[in-house]
Amino acid sequence: MESLRLKKGFICDMDGVIYHGNELLPGAREFVEWLKEEKKEFLFLTNNSQRSRRELQQKIHRLGITVDPVYFYTTALATASFLASQHPGGTAYVIGDAGLTNALYEAGFSINDIDPDYVVVGETRSYSFEKIQQAINLVMKGAKLIGTNPDLVCPTDAGPIPGCGSLIAPIEYATGRKAYFMGKPNPLMIRHALRCLSCGRDETVFIGDQMETDIIAGIHAEVDTVLVLSGVTAKEDLVKYAYRPTFVFKSVGDILKEEI
Ligand SMILES: [Mg+2]
Repeated sequence: MESLRLKKGFICDMDGVIYHGNELLPGAREFVEWLKEEKKEFLFLTNNSQRSRRELQQKIHRLGITVDPVYFYTTALATASFLASQHPGGTAYVIGDAGLTNALYEAGFSINDIDPDYVVVGETRSYSFEKIQQAINLVMKGAKLIGTNPDLVCPTDAGPIPGCGSLIAPIEYATGRKAYFMGKPNPLMIRHALRCLSCGRDETVFIGDQMETDIIAGIHAEVDTVLVLSGVTAKEDLVKYAYRPTFVFKSVGDILKEEI
């Protein structure tokens, strides 16, 4: 416990760790206050590429936690950072929302729907037959196919909606090409997030609620991991996995307790 609290960097998944839907989870506010008081370096990480940092900040502010937009890291930012490292000053045709387009612009990319280096697909509700057709043509002409995150489904207040993995599937099927996905469980997401902090892997911990995305990504990125049972995973589920998190807690609030 003490070794955990002495870490310098904390990267936290949000849904199932900080909030669930529109409800703050027990101990989350106290945990974030502690991060601020202790001057920890921290980032809130999400596989969703739709929202900008500012929109995420506003959402969490409505729930009662106030932090600057700079403390959020999305798959849109991670994808832009990755593509800029692969192909500085490259071009992309984007099926996605402002969060993704802006991240690509900020990483030095320009948008091109004639002969782009990449077709990039993120979470979006502005999706059409024409856009899929265009994407297929561009991939067949040589554009590389990138998805921000492999999630097939996104939970919303109005029920599940197709995630990036589902939206990109028709392009994969029609072209016979497999997309490369940047979001969790790809550990690159965490490695790119680490670049935003000024601490090393051994000084950082990743906190999440899913074994197959969060914990495996943390293990592959070689950071210590915390599984919280406030989201989709129950304690009984742990026996099903060949790997384990470094720590398991009921919720993030338990990290602050002397004894559990
Ligand atoms: Mg989660």
